[in-house]
Amino acid sequence: MKGWRIGRIAGISIEIHFTWLVIFGLILYKFSTDLLPSMLPDARPEQLWIAGLATAILAFGSLLLHELAHSLMAQRLGATVSRITLFILGGVAQMTREPKNPASEFKISIVGPLSSILLGGGFIGAYWAITKFDLPKLWAIPCLLVGEINIALAVFNMLPAFPLDGGRVLRSILWWRWRSRERATRIASAAGRWLGYLMMGLGVVQLIATDVTGGLWTLALGWLLSTMATASYQRVQLSQALDGVHVHDLMTSPVATIPAAVPLQRAVFDYFLVTGFATLAVEENGEIVGVLHRDQIQAVDQSLWLGTSVAEVMRPLDRDKMTVRADEDAVEALMKMAESGLERLLVVDWRGTVIGIITQSDVVRLLKMRGELRP
Ligand SMILES: [Zn+2]
Repeated sequence: MKGWRIGRIAGISIEIHFTWLVIFGLILYKFSTDLLPSMLPDARPEQLWIAGLATAILAFGSLLLHELAHSLMAQRLGATVSRITLFILGGVAQMTREPKNPASEFKISIVGPLSSILLGGGFIGAYWAITKFDLPKLWAIPCLLVGEINIALAVFNMLPAFPLDGGRVLRSILWWRWRSRERATRIASAAGRWLGYLMMGLGVVQLIATDVTGGLWTLALGWLLSTMATASYQRVQLSQALDGVHVHDLMTSPVATIPAAVPLQRAVFDYFLVTGFATLAVEENGEIVGVLHRDQIQAVDQSLWLGTSVAEVMRPLDRDKMTVRADEDAVEALMKMAESGLERLLVVDWRGTVIGIITQSDVVRLLKMRGELRP
């Protein structure tokens, strides 16, 4: 999941997904117009909005710290974390690979809820202190609310539903006991799916009891939980099926290139029809500057083929989205394709030089063969 980058901490890009704005807005509105006025009957409206904003920002900062705790522990244990994205359900830290053993998985998963409990305790402590020393109530209430949010965050995340933290903790324990990650993942994600269904059922009951907002909210959360459980299980299965396969095992190398200045007419007759490839890497001054797929030419009216150059219709190279390193796991390439909606990625070596191309069908073909040959 990608979003707008708002900063960088310890080499990790901090991003906001647009769905997060919805939850931020809702919290701000609900607090400033409903919750805070009932708790602070003497406050003026503008004071309520400032207190609401402070609450929302502190809650958001707490969530970020929760994800940072996961990420820093993961980095300490040798994983690479590229970004943290905040979205409607909370936060998600993008790690490059699955934890290698149950102990790492346990440590990485537990530090998030632990940090939320600590933060919750800290804010509730601050509330007590402010109340005890008779300081303005306007300061005390946001602390109380943020403290409660942190505790709720810890409790929700500790539900034994994979891929939530609690589900990961459960998986690590089962994994350690059974010595089978496959079986542990299957049970932990089944728990996630069933908990999701249970929440959806609860949402329906709430709707029947005419609690429309609460019911829809529980329904949506339950649905998200069960979809996430299924998707994460598939991902783990996929990475198991592709275990030991790297990008360089499946790539086509070298990649066929075409100069950027060539008109489309020549691109078709001298390149595509000669090589038989669907995709060519576009080259300019010895560097790869983009990718050209035959569909991009077909989208241009044939009468314009002589006067249009490859550079004008190609997809310019976006290294973040369109390349993958040769030594990465094949499953990472597949995930990247799914995330960016591309069917092929350029393969680069450690210096960033393009050395090949990998397509979705290369990976799928291998998956199919491995499935058929499995005893
Ligand atoms: Zn967490």
